Amino acid sequence: MFIDTHAHLNLDPFYEDVQPYIDRAFEAGVTKIIVPSTDLITSERAISLADRFDHVYAAVGIHPNDSTDASTDHLDILEEMLKHPKVCAIGEIGLDYFRDYAPANVQQSIFRGQVELARDLGYPMIVHNRAADNDTFRIMDESGCFNAQFHCYGSDEMFARKVLSKGALISFTGVVTFAKKVKELVAMLPLNKLMIETDCPWMAPIPHRGKQNEPAYVVEVARAYSEIFQSSVEDIAKITTNTAKRFFNI
Ligand SMILES: [Zn+2]
Ligand SMILES: [Zn+2]
Repeated sequence: MFIDTHAHLNLDPFYEDVQPYIDRAFEAGVTKIIVPSTDLITSERAISLADRFDHVYAAVGIHPNDSTDASTDHLDILEEMLKHPKVCAIGEIGLDYFRDYAPANVQQSIFRGQVELARDLGYPMIVHNRAADNDTFRIMDESGCFNAQFHCYGSDEMFARKVLSKGALISFTGVVTFAKKVKELVAMLPLNKLMIETDCPWMAPIPHRGKQNEPAYVVEVARAYSEIFQSSVEDIAKITTNTAKRFFNI
């Protein structure tokens, strides 16, 4: 019914005891979960979760905040990982000038390499972009690849139009349940270009704010969309699930 397109089940506090989270998600109607990665270790963990659970899929990649630690052979290793049948995307990758954990030039070169890998091998990308609209767009444009989900979208409407016109998709987290500006932005976007995600353990939605987020709560994101688009939660589930299935090829 629902797909949580972004759940960090490969991180603590989930990874050591993941079963209850998987069970609760399933009970809430979350029939598929995409686990994104931030480095090679979490990529391995995402794959092992995908091996263990039928409805869990892995994305592998180096997060911009981890780009200074990327090994020189990371692209070769990622390419090997992509051969696994349940690795469905490269991510999360991108640029984060807000946190600024790694110098911009390092972030850019790690991002570019992975965008080119995604392009060459035909995999979708999960893009993390914070305060880096221009460079994110430029690198993707120069690489000729916009087969991407702009996850935890935090830029403005104009940038949304720009990436949508290139064929990218956008997803929102639980922030859409409480941030007025985000609600207003969602209302201006085409529903058939949107997916839902938790980005757990962060970004818990109302009525779970302040608590640890988990995949079951992605239903609240769908509920927020349903209010914004004046549509039933079932219809939102159907539309966003179809979009995610097509995008991740699952
Ligand atoms: Zn992110
Ligand atoms: Zn994330």
